[in-house]
Amino acid sequence: MKIIRAEHLGMCFGVMDAIALALETAKHEPLTILGDLVHNETVLAELRARDIRIAQQPGNADTRTVMITAHGASERRLAETRERGLNVLEATCPLVRVAHRAVAKLAREGFHPVIIGKRDHVEVRGMTEDLAEFDVVLDERDVVNLRERSRFGVMAQTTQPIEKVRRLVQLIRERFPKSEVRFVDTVCQPTKQRQHAAVELAHKCDVVVVIGGAHSNNTHELVKTCSQFCARVHHVQIAADLRMEWFHADDIVGITAGTSTPDTVIGEGELWLRDFAARLAVQTIQTKETHEPVFHVS
Ligand code: SF4
Repeated sequence: MKIIRAEHLGMCFGVMDAIALALETAKHEPLTILGDLVHNETVLAELRARDIRIAQQPGNADTRTVMITAHGASERRLAETRERGLNVLEATCPLVRVAHRAVAKLAREGFHPVIIGKRDHVEVRGMTEDLAEFDVVLDERDVVNLRERSRFGVMAQTTQPIEKVRRLVQLIRERFPKSEVRFVDTVCQPTKQRQHAAVELAHKCDVVVVIGGAHSNNTHELVKTCSQFCARVHHVQIAADLRMEWFHADDIVGITAGTSTPDTVIGEGELWLRDFAARLAVQTIQTKETHEPVFHVS
């Protein structure tokens, strides 16, 4: 069994910076993170172990300092949080800020904002809560339900696959030929790199293991992408989720991971696979030896 890693995988700089900020702040003062800093249980458990609290709403925070996650928040939400007398620390990823500025500019210039992404995702809520009107579309069906506007300003949640985004933009153009459709590409570079590397990996492999949190959007997108080019794709959160029956001795096994998956978790997954590959190799040699004919020379 051969094991290869995707060229780009795992935690992005936006998430790493947010974790570093949380850990550094917690050394000096009690901290509550508003929402899940990352959609990864291993990281969240590590933060809780350092006494960093997590609350979904500012009203539930029991520390004076609260932190906004890398996914960002709307100006409205930031103001509401400050009005409660809370000290707000922003770990918003710079690439999410780029997306916030892009949507605000589109709305200012008279385009009807259309965000390609998940309506209930915290990042999309942060992008849209300050807008008077907007639409969120995730697939072809949502595009069919759009109402005609003279000008559409289309952009995406940073972790959406760029091919899908381009396909939906094209669909909007086809559906509304008389409308002006301006597209601003807000899919972040780390997502593009991981998606591109996942396609290359899936083409080369018999099995692909995608490591990432159960609620991580970009991990799910990696699973979907790999499944287009490889029939055996498995999503695991940690090494303990791996199953021996998924792998055969002559398989090429690829590893990729979402932008919220820490290196340690990827490393443990890879170690499990390498260990299992070594055991399979020994088994194969032993089986061969048992079946080899024995010649007696007199
Ligand atoms: S996935 Fe992209 S936008 Fe989101 S935190 Fe990472 S680098 Fe930033």
